[in-house]
Amino acid sequence: MRFAYLGSGSRGNAAVISAGATHVLLDCGFPASEAERRLQRLGLEAADLAAVLVTHEHGDHIGGVSALARRHGLAVYMTLGTRAAGKMHPAVDVRVIDGHSPLTIDALEVLPYPVPHDARQPCQFVFHDGQWRLGVLSDAGCITPHIRDMLAPCDALAIEFNHDVDMLARGPYPPSLKTRVGGRLGHLSNCQSAALLADIGAERLQHLVLAHLSEQNNSPALAQQAAATALAVDPDWVQLADQADGLDWRQLAMR
Ligand SMILES: [Zn+2]
Ligand SMILES: [Zn+2]
Repeated sequence: MRFAYLGSGSRGNAAVISAGATHVLLDCGFPASEAERRLQRLGLEAADLAAVLVTHEHGDHIGGVSALARRHGLAVYMTLGTRAAGKMHPAVDVRVIDGHSPLTIDALEVLPYPVPHDARQPCQFVFHDGQWRLGVLSDAGCITPHIRDMLAPCDALAIEFNHDVDMLARGPYPPSLKTRVGGRLGHLSNCQSAALLADIGAERLQHLVLAHLSEQNNSPALAQQAAATALAVDPDWVQLADQADGLDWRQLAMR
C-alpha cells in the first residue's frame, strides 16, 4: 500500500491511497481540473481512480467531488448525512455508507469511523490492504476513545495538526471563529494531536504525516516539534502534507 497527498489545508484537501492497481481518492476540495493536474503530478489520471471517498460536506473536502465524479464516471462513497448536506449533482453515482461498517473497494478494505466535527455526519477512515493499515484523521474537535482504538493498530498515520492554541488565541480570526475552531466540534490543535500520538506511541509507525495545518494559526516547525516530542523522534522524521505541494508517495513496506 502507498499513499500521497494532492494537498492539505483549509483551501483544499485530497489524498490518494493505492493498493496494487486500486487507487482511491480521499476527499476532493480542489476544483476538478486542479485535482486532475495534481493527480498527474503523482503519475495518475482521474480515470484510474476506483472511487472517491468523502469525509464530510465542508467545501475544503467536497468542493470538487461532484464535477470530478461526473467527468470521469466515478463512484462516490459518503454517509447519508454527508449526502443530504453535500449537494451532489443527481447524475453522480453516490453510494451511501453508514460510518461504522467496513467496505471493500477492490484491493482495499476501508474502515470508516465517526468523528466529532460540526458537519452533518462526518467520518474518517482507516485503509487496510490485508497487510498494512493507514489511519487518516482530520477535521475533529476532540479525540474520542473510538478514534484512539481505530488508529492505535495503524502502521502509518496522517493526522490533523490544525492550530497552535496560543497562535489561535492571539491570531486574526474573529472571536466566533476562534471559538468554533478551538471547540469540541472544530479542529485538532497541535496539543490534542500530540497527546493522541503520545498515547499510541511510535513503535509501529512507518510514516507520520501532519495534515490540515492552518496557515494563520500554526507553523510547520511548531507542529513538527509537538509531534516529535510526543513520540520521542527526530522532527525531521515527521512529514507534512502541504497546501500547495501536498506530499509525494509514501510506501508501506517491510522494515
Ligand atoms: Zn477541513
Ligand atoms: Zn470540516
